[in-house]
Amino acid sequence: AAMGLLSEVEAARRALREVAIRDGLTNLYNRRCFGARLHAEVSQARRMASPLTVIMIDVDHFKRINDLWGHSAGDEVLQRVADALIAYVRPDDLSARFGGEEFVALLPGAPLDEAADVAERIRLAIADLRIASLEPAETPHVTASLGIAAFDHDTETVDQLLQRADSAMYAAKTEGRNRCVIAAGRVPADAPRRLQSQGS
Ligand code: GH3
Ligand code: MG
Ligand code: MG
Repeated sequence: AAMGLLSEVEAARRALREVAIRDGLTNLYNRRCFGARLHAEVSQARRMASPLTVIMIDVDHFKRINDLWGHSAGDEVLQRVADALIAYVRPDDLSARFGGEEFVALLPGAPLDEAADVAERIRLAIADLRIASLEPAETPHVTASLGIAAFDHDTETVDQLLQRADSAMYAAKTEGRNRCVIAAGRVPADAPRRLQSQGS
């Protein structure tokens, strides 16, 4: 009986831990867990001088989706976007729900062009989603804007890395949404680049 109780306690602990690190709606990691993992990965990347890339993803005109189809349809969209992320981010990488309709992926070991490739695949997968509760609608139902930034080992803090990914995502919004933008490096002359001009 004591053994049974012990394993019950152990199972409850595991369940609690999962609740603490996961987002309830999408089952992705939550922002706090992402932050902890990001700091650990940055230290590792510095030590090994290995690449580390971040992709910020923000669903386009999500407020409109809620307004037109209702909040629970909006929730379903977020779940499907999360599934698309999981499908294109490797198990060793980390994807998380960063905020309301914002997601983030962390790709340790991935150079910028490889991460840009992943981002483009995520963008296409989201634009290809067909969501029953949004029927009938023009296509595509749902799009997202993505910003990609590679960690600059020598000069950058974690917050600056996230900020550059966020600015690139914002540039994708102002350039018309449903696109990926690669963040400028920290050299002022280096302007944000559109993914298409990358030839990838
Ligand atoms: P943009 O293309 O510029 O990103 O526009 P947007 O409408 O996506 O951005 P905005 O920040 O104006 O709206 C985000 C909306 O997301 C507002 C908020 O009510 C909604 N939202 C946040 N979290 C949730 C959630 O968990 N479920 C649902 N259904 N909606 C959410
Ligand atoms: Mg947003
Ligand atoms: Mg949005």
